[in-house]
Amino acid sequence: MPASSPPTIGIVSLGCPKALVDSERILTQLRAEGYLISPDYAGADTVIVNTCGFLDSAKEESLAAIGEAISENGKVIVTGCMGGEEDVIRAAHPSVLAVTGPHQAQQVVSAVHEVIPPAHDPKMDLVPDCGLKLTPAHYAYLKISEGCNNSCNFCIIPDIRGKLVSRPVVSVLYEAERLVNAGVKELLVISQDTSAYGVDIGFQPGKWHGNEIKARFFELAKQLGSLGSWVRLHYVYPYPHVDEVIELMEDNIVLPYLDIPFQHASPKILKNMRRPANDDKVLRRIENWRNICPDLALRSTFIVGYPGETEEDFQYLLDWISEAKILRAGCFRYEAVSGAKSNQLPDQIPEEVKQERWHRFMQAQLEVSNELMSAMTGKQVTVLVDGIDEETGEAIARGTFDAPEIDGNIFISNDGHLQQGDMVKVSLDEVDEYDFLAHLV
Ligand code: SF4
Repeated sequence: MPASSPPTIGIVSLGCPKALVDSERILTQLRAEGYLISPDYAGADTVIVNTCGFLDSAKEESLAAIGEAISENGKVIVTGCMGGEEDVIRAAHPSVLAVTGPHQAQQVVSAVHEVIPPAHDPKMDLVPDCGLKLTPAHYAYLKISEGCNNSCNFCIIPDIRGKLVSRPVVSVLYEAERLVNAGVKELLVISQDTSAYGVDIGFQPGKWHGNEIKARFFELAKQLGSLGSWVRLHYVYPYPHVDEVIELMEDNIVLPYLDIPFQHASPKILKNMRRPANDDKVLRRIENWRNICPDLALRSTFIVGYPGETEEDFQYLLDWISEAKILRAGCFRYEAVSGAKSNQLPDQIPEEVKQERWHRFMQAQLEVSNELMSAMTGKQVTVLVDGIDEETGEAIARGTFDAPEIDGNIFISNDGHLQQGDMVKVSLDEVDEYDFLAHLV
């Protein structure tokens, strides 16, 4: 939990003027975030030791300063030139909380956040504790990483945004906790490849409310699920390690919903696309997921008219969405993106064929969706109210099986007392294309 009074940081700055400037930069940022600077060890919540590693004597002085800070205060973050020799520092002082090198002000500030997060002062801060949001107050997107390690032929995101960079697990969890404390009832976890979370940082653990939590997809999902809001997982690939997350769904820890951008089903096209996790066992994996969690709802996106897609490949896709029981799907006609490798592929598909396949896909998907939705009518489900229709007065809500903006809605007759952000139980009465009509229980 964020501290109620401003947290206080002590600093010991050794070495040359360049190191001094680094210390000033770190303190400036911490002060701007509301931290106080302590002149002594006793008053500090944590102490930063900015070390010098120029000569052996300077290294000895640095190790002695770290030792003194540990014995006087106990919570010590080390930075500066000697930070390049982390193994030497940890051998002498195993209890240091974090070690960073020179000119790594941002990493030091992140390490401070992990030890003691900045306090929010509602009278002084220009932004609310949960940050500024463009979404309604009751749901929020939570970005857990940036970039992508895959290299799909039609995509230039790795060129634009670079390789996967996962956020530290504690930083994600603090943000999520602040959002839930501010009234958010649904967290939508997003990234380019959510199931790859933490791979780039060796699943580096962090301390969260006294427990060590690994930066791993499963652990992150489990902790997010403990905050008390709905947790919806987007952009997940069907890797084997996703299986354990399905168990969290069956245990009501995260929503029984997975957004998996399959893009296609034909093994030949998936290979031409260079899609991750494109093995032919995906249908079996999905079946196994449904054995664990029968209520699992799958949403996906698909591309039709990819270079080389034959009528046979396309028919394979239509059969596949029916067998995989995809509840919600978006479909795109393949488009050449400047810089994408797929532009060079032979057998580009004429526009009219793409268009015709798109219509057939949408019709087939509507049938799959309606069959699944019809099987759900009569059920009682918990829904989250997104808003009130100004003309009809009906409440517009969603169940666990629908994400905001991209999936379907549930329209509930409303006697005027339902409001945005309410969570209520309804009975699903009728299917209307992609939506349900329902009444309050
Ligand atoms: S399509 Fe998705 S998984 Fe593939 S490279 Fe682009 S961002 Fe990565």
